Amino acid sequence: CGIVGYVGSQSALDVVMAGLKRLEYRGYDSAGVAVLADGGLAAAKKAGKLLNLEKELVDRPLPSGSTGIGHTRWATHGGPTDANAHPHLDNAGRVAVVHNGIIENFALLRAELAERGHDLTSETDTEVVSHLLAEEFSSCADLAEAMRLVCRRLEGAFTLVAVHADEPDVVVGARRNSPLVVGVGEGEAFLASDVAAFIAHTRSAIELGQDQVVELRRDGVTVTGFDGSPAGVRSYHVDWDASA
Ligand code: GLU
Repeated sequence: CGIVGYVGSQSALDVVMAGLKRLEYRGYDSAGVAVLADGGLAAAKKAGKLLNLEKELVDRPLPSGSTGIGHTRWATHGGPTDANAHPHLDNAGRVAVVHNGIIENFALLRAELAERGHDLTSETDTEVVSHLLAEEFSSCADLAEAMRLVCRRLEGAFTLVAVHADEPDVVVGARRNSPLVVGVGEGEAFLASDVAAFIAHTRSAIELGQDQVVELRRDGVTVTGFDGSPAGVRSYHVDWDASA
């Protein structure tokens, strides 16, 4: 299972798909991507190998954009189907989220969301996050802040990465008990569960600490705790061989 996020000036889809391929060794049962383009959000997801997703992208191409996220799934809640594959969207289709790990208190959150009129369409623990992010974003209009507020309500282990069509140049990530690494390039930035996903583009990396949220923009990254406090950033140079 793996996660890749990108914001910059390249085709996000190309960068994300290449990154997911570099993470294939981790094992997975489904894959999906989301791209921000033309003021909206477009997503594709398929059960099975990345090849299935690649075929889907040929049959139904996504518009090209330079902000995007991708995911390979190892199902824990809900079988390996197209519907359960990530990304998961909110009902308006404005926010997309990918997740590795388990949200332990998803059943309670799901019941609360259903009560507030949300229509959840998958069997995953993950889908609650896209709906909660959409709710929080509607009052704060800041995806990183929405992510911090949502993470404070989640229990379990998670790497989460999200995009919102109303913030087309931002990718937000969060982690608790699950890995997430940032790659900093020239006018571009990357997020991944493993540096292997972006080593072809940059060797400048930041390891996110426990219970931290990162906001990625072309011109830099901002790291905070789940409580909003600024976090010290630990940068390092990745020096192992990319071809390994
Ligand atoms: N628990 C989530 C699911 O089953 C994420 C699984 C993963 O780590 O890929 O969809």
